[in-house]
Amino acid sequence: MDISEYRGGCLCGNIRFIAAGTPNNPHTCSCTMCQKHSGALTLCWVEFPKDSVRWIGKGGFPSLYRSSDYSSRAFCNHCGSSLGAIDDGSTIGLILGNFDNYESEELTPLSHSYPPSQPK
Ligand SMILES: [Zn+2]
Ligand SMILES: [Zn+2]
Repeated sequence: MDISEYRGGCLCGNIRFIAAGTPNNPHTCSCTMCQKHSGALTLCWVEFPKDSVRWIGKGGFPSLYRSSDYSSRAFCNHCGSSLGAIDDGSTIGLILGNFDNYESEELTPLSHSYPPSQPK
């Protein structure tokens, strides 16, 4: 397997992705939108260029909820898993918990957004 290829998907497996290339900006976020999107107090994120993410599951492209004027939140419409944020620009944010393997060093969160609302 190519070392710079990352696979993952939702709880039911209907939505699967392969992200290729170099992951950018691994970070955690505890903003209200991430909390409501996932039900979790903190999400771990990593970003990829939009054109380097392929959606290979039976369900194809994830369902979208328009969450701001520049981005949509992605989810599986079968099991409800939160999958990420797909910007109108060139970036996709993927949620680390969906990755089959998230323990490599380049995926480890380096910064923290909205730390006041992180769990203590
Ligand atoms: Zn699913
Ligand atoms: Zn957030």
